[in-house]
Amino acid sequence: MSKYSNHIAIIGSGISGLILGNTLLKKNIPCIIFEKYSSISEYGAGISISRNGQNVLAELEILDKLKSTSGNPKKVFFFTNNKEITSFDIDHITTSRKELHRILLDQYLTLGGDIHFDYELNKINHKKKVISFSNNEAFYVKHIAACDGIKSTCRNLLLNDDQKPLYSGYSVWRAILDKKTTDIEFNLGPNFHLVTYPINKNKTSLVAAIKTKNSTQESWRKKGTFNELQSKIPNDLLERYSSIKNNNEIYKWGVYTRKNIDKLFMDNITFLGDAAHPIAPFMGQGGCLAIEDGYIFGSLVSKFKDNLKRSQSTYKDIRLKRIKNINKKSLNQAKFNHLKNPILIFFRNVLMKYTNITHNLTKSIWDYDSKKEIGRVRLP
Ligand SMILES: Cc1cc2nc3c(=O)[nH]c(=O)nc-3n(C[C@H](O)[C@H](O)[C@H](O)COP(=O)(O)OP(=O)(O)OC[C@H]3O[C@@H](n4cnc5c(N)ncnc54)[C@H](O)[C@@H]3O)c2cc1C
Repeated sequence: MSKYSNHIAIIGSGISGLILGNTLLKKNIPCIIFEKYSSISEYGAGISISRNGQNVLAELEILDKLKSTSGNPKKVFFFTNNKEITSFDIDHITTSRKELHRILLDQYLTLGGDIHFDYELNKINHKKKVISFSNNEAFYVKHIAACDGIKSTCRNLLLNDDQKPLYSGYSVWRAILDKKTTDIEFNLGPNFHLVTYPINKNKTSLVAAIKTKNSTQESWRKKGTFNELQSKIPNDLLERYSSIKNNNEIYKWGVYTRKNIDKLFMDNITFLGDAAHPIAPFMGQGGCLAIEDGYIFGSLVSKFKDNLKRSQSTYKDIRLKRIKNINKKSLNQAKFNHLKNPILIFFRNVLMKYTNITHNLTKSIWDYDSKKEIGRVRLP
């Protein structure tokens, strides 16, 4: 029971959990990860990591490794009706979630990290710092880091705020295709947008978001069909990705929002990543924020020499404004991408073509540097 009494217990080995684990171990702070599944699965998901996420990966010395197996697109193109609206240079890494997890986990284990798979947390006594699992084991720990994702058990067990997920009006289809591509391409249509990017030398991630009143379940694992997708996206566009017809791994997922994303900690538990703040995916920042959260909380614990209360309050002070700002921008971006009215579409396209609006909207998000942020934090 007390074997981990001087450890920070990380619940979930997703992006935020592994980044936190790596950050703590680099600073020689004991931690232990508990993951409910026995392995990591891809579920047809790609992920793009902008500079703000890459800065952290560089600090943790895994950026080059990830770059060597990922797609590294240098340009993003925007199209409507198969005609180019605009393009600009970018500096993204695009990869699969599975590959990112693999590299994060490898590094964590190389640093001597310990992880328990098949440990599903089902009970927390956050005052006494005791965590219990569905296999009937329980541990007394020093602190609890809730990194258990969008359907966070930690959050559900502890917070009585109005966490009922609200369907955002958008559903997303996604698949990994056997197709070689080099750039990021956005296709904007009435009520939908479709994005593709290379996740390595031979494969492409396709994500199609559709504005629809018919809600889809909030799930990473729910399968969709090509026929469903075909009924929502113009055929000539889908034809460009024809291998999707025979793809048995098409997934669909409803985007949900939560009202309250203010609560980043409570007593001896700190919330990170989607467990703290599920973000609509339209700026591609959910994973990057999870990366920033893990690095910033871990660095604060080290900076404040284990003063966890201070680490928690500073973490909240630093993170909240940025998280709320990106969440708002993501929801606005969804409206911008899914316009239906032809007049509004015309003005949007003119704006995109003749101004730097798209680039400027993302610049402040991508330019963020977590290490500099930590450097600005004053010690008591
Ligand atoms: C289609 C799609 C595309 C996306 N594209 C991008 C993108 O391009 N760029 C970007 O930055 N973000 C993107 N995101 C968002 C990003 O993937 C998430 O925001 C990110 O994974 C959140 O990290 P996390 O650590 O909070 O949760 P997760 O990575 O989901 O990890 C949670 C972990 O906790 C485990 N867990 C859950 N419950 C328990 C429990 N009770 N006990 C123990 N373990 C538990 C889970 O098994 C999982 O391993 C995308 C999301 C989707 C759905």
